[in-house]
Amino acid sequence: MGKTLGRLRRLPEIECLGPKTIGETLSLLKKHDGKARVFAGGTDLLPKMKRRELAPQYLIDLNGITGLKFIKYEKEKGLRIGAATTLNEISESSIVKKRCPILVEAVSQMASTQIRNIASIGGNLCNAVPSADSAPPLMALGAKLKLVSPKKVRTILVEDFFKSPDKTVLSPGELVTEVLIPPARSGEFWAYLKHTLRSEMDLAIVGVAAYLAIDSKRHICKDIKIVLGAVAPVPMRARKAEAVLRGETLSDELIENAAQIASEESKPIDDIRSTAKYRREMVKVFTRRAIRQSLERV
Ligand SMILES: Cc1cc2nc3c(=O)[nH]c(=O)nc-3n(C[C@H](O)[C@H](O)[C@H](O)COP(=O)(O)OP(=O)(O)OC[C@H]3O[C@@H](n4cnc5c(N)ncnc54)[C@H](O)[C@@H]3O)c2cc1C
Repeated sequence: MGKTLGRLRRLPEIECLGPKTIGETLSLLKKHDGKARVFAGGTDLLPKMKRRELAPQYLIDLNGITGLKFIKYEKEKGLRIGAATTLNEISESSIVKKRCPILVEAVSQMASTQIRNIASIGGNLCNAVPSADSAPPLMALGAKLKLVSPKKVRTILVEDFFKSPDKTVLSPGELVTEVLIPPARSGEFWAYLKHTLRSEMDLAIVGVAAYLAIDSKRHICKDIKIVLGAVAPVPMRARKAEAVLRGETLSDELIENAAQIASEESKPIDDIRSTAKYRREMVKVFTRRAIRQSLERV
């Protein structure tokens, strides 16, 4: 039986800790080295614990920390979202709707209202599954993550965060504290499309985010990012497909060619939701659609 279908069992007694600051959280992680795990919504962590894939002795609740729950916009820095901010707080935020509609597009398609009410953006990224819906749009936007440990604070691109399924560059005892999204400039357009078998409550078979920077006078594609989810061990840029379009006037033929190349670049596997062959075909279809949808917004 596949990993995701493992039997869910009742949890043993676990001590739950409720720090009020990031510093307190880091101290608790250090004190209970290797035995504690942070959680925000628990929507990924608790099923893993019930399947006995993880067995922490202490759970550290991030929900009481105001420094992890905020949405702010500054002209110079752009959008900043605290890691424990819930998906519904993001999709309902007037700031995010105005400054980063692609993120609203992506998170509104995730799970269900009930799950989105507790699930966080930080948890979605730190869980590091290839189908994490927030990853492709954030990568397309050139977003960064702020990582904090007792010794240092570092900032890395979301693109460099994932190492393999379930694995990130986070060191033991390190926290993601916020997501930083650069301010949008004029002439930039995006789309995120997710292909699922069911209309709701389903993980992506394929997710595609497209970002276009267009020269409004000459209609030339100045820059492009195509990011694929659920079709490789980690969310990935389709760089060869991007190269076909960068610097060109976007014709139907060129877009079709890029979509084909993106499909060849993807590295899907057969699993419970789809065959690799079908996923590869859908990369082509959804890459084409995502680029066209971004173009329609020009
Ligand atoms: C029914 C259902 C449907 C779902 N549908 C979707 C979907 O459509 N798309 C999708 O992408 N996901 C989906 N998910 C997965 C899940 O809901 C999301 O990934 C969610 O955003 C996880 O957030 P969380 O706060 O619940 O994470 P948690 O379970 O609290 O944490 C997940 C992992 O990240 C770690 N972590 C959390 N926050 C931090 C932090 N700030 N710093 C360091 N480590 C941290 C935890 O220790 C844990 O290992 C679904 C889940 C369920 C149960």
